[in-house]
Amino acid sequence: MTNDLLSLSTNEFIGGIETVAPRFDSASYPQQNLPADDWTLLTKAGVLLPTLPKEYGGRDDHAEMCEVVETLSEWNLPLGMYVTVISAVALRPIVLWAGDEARREVLPAYAGGDPMIAGFASTEPGCGSAMSAMTTTFEEVEGGYRIRGRKHWQAFSSSAHWWLVSAKNETRDRREYGYFIVKRSEGFRTLRPYEPLGLKVIDYGLNEIDAVVPRHRRIAADGRTLRPMVEMLMASRAMMAAMGCGFLRRVSREAHSYAERRRIGPGPQSAIRFVRYRLAAIDASYVVCSALNHHLRTALNMKEEMIGAFPAVQAIKTVATERMLSAAHHYQQLVGGEGYRCGSPTNISAQAFLDARVYTIFDGTNDLLSQQLTEHCLARTDGRALSRFLAEWPLTASAVTAHGLDLSFLDRDLRQEHLVLAGRAIAYAFAIGRVMRWAADTGADPRAARTAIEFLKADIAGVATEFELLSAGVLGGHVLN
Ligand SMILES: Cc1cc2nc3c(=O)[nH]c(=O)nc-3n(C[C@H](O)[C@H](O)[C@H](O)COP(=O)(O)OP(=O)(O)OC[C@H]3O[C@@H](n4cnc5c(N)ncnc54)[C@H](O)[C@@H]3O)c2cc1C
Repeated sequence: MTNDLLSLSTNEFIGGIETVAPRFDSASYPQQNLPADDWTLLTKAGVLLPTLPKEYGGRDDHAEMCEVVETLSEWNLPLGMYVTVISAVALRPIVLWAGDEARREVLPAYAGGDPMIAGFASTEPGCGSAMSAMTTTFEEVEGGYRIRGRKHWQAFSSSAHWWLVSAKNETRDRREYGYFIVKRSEGFRTLRPYEPLGLKVIDYGLNEIDAVVPRHRRIAADGRTLRPMVEMLMASRAMMAAMGCGFLRRVSREAHSYAERRRIGPGPQSAIRFVRYRLAAIDASYVVCSALNHHLRTALNMKEEMIGAFPAVQAIKTVATERMLSAAHHYQQLVGGEGYRCGSPTNISAQAFLDARVYTIFDGTNDLLSQQLTEHCLARTDGRALSRFLAEWPLTASAVTAHGLDLSFLDRDLRQEHLVLAGRAIAYAFAIGRVMRWAADTGADPRAARTAIEFLKADIAGVATEFELLSAGVLGGHVLN
């Protein structure tokens, strides 16, 4: 019973999650939507309890939310995403901003160990990055609000019981955004399932909404801008660090063990120096995600508003997901042909790559988030050159000083393409600072930290080179045919 889980210490509670997680080992778990019985097993182990307030039967613990997702992601990355969507994306805004009546209606169902699912419906066929173009509408009607429109790519499209839906009310001279808690049976229909390349435990699709919801199910949020939606996505973006940390611990372990086992010529594959370079790159990515995860656990708090951590969260999301993807790519390359085989008995690299692939795309595409990070910084330079600002900004200052980072290539007129690239460089500088902090706080092997920092410095140098490439006129407008 989940009630018994409330009195456990964190170690005992996470121990329980560690006991059930191996059952979902991606090496053997079927590539299919998670059956309700398996979700029951996980909810009975308490995977949603850290998200829920104590008054609704939860454990209400930020660090445990991270640990649950990290633990699950080590065994099965898609399952880490599964829990993140329900807890950090769908339930968290209800916990933080819904009124008492709505909270009482929804939250207890998620504490009881039943296989309850909740999703977040924002993206539409016509818009994902620029959500101001959304066409799903809401209007006041007797007793509440009527919401109509189409959404797509929602996690749990066919299976979620409750939804958090974004919508717009627009007249000629006024635009307002609203967020509503919708019960599936009130008018959320899946028109067509989508088949994703990875993340097979989650069902996706094209959805149609025509629902009337009572007034108390509107979430309190400023309707004038999309800032509340950005806030609602903060926790899942930050949670990429926990997913990346668990996932890359596994990838690192598997890649090393594969390279030891595999014989190429007279010796093990790991004797080849370039193979060792790839393994070092994987390990560096694991270190970076561990450091970002440390920041998530110790410096951020998903139990509160997170908008103040906007730049840190943008950096975490982009760097962690890039690291997941690049490490999965190295691992798959190391495994050779067997890495292109579904269900190979020797490795999980094909599925790891397919699962990791979407992380740089969803939850805000990394290109857009990088641009927004640069714009955030530019708005705060107070007339200083951007590199000067970064040398003084608390999120990057320690890295710039300790490693003498030369970011002066950023001090120029930044066009849109530069804004995206600059955001990457800023995020790498942020990550260097987090690796330094993580090493100091945890006493981690300084060589591991140093190697990770060298990789991040090389990433910054890569951005500088891309600036030169742009200066060489590669966007000259020539079309090849
Ligand atoms: C597996 C999966 C799960 C998802 N889960 C959910 C969910 O649960 N709920 C939900 O509402 N949505 C979900 N989504 C939708 C997801 O958040 C969007 O796909 C994502 O935000 C991108 O929007 P888009 O697909 O419309 O791409 P677009 O907005 O068309 O962008 C496509 C590409 O254009 C380029 N681009 C766009 N803007 C910029 C820019 N400013 N600078 C540089 N390049 C740019 C980038 O290369 C970008 O990747 C999911 C998607 C997938 C694939």
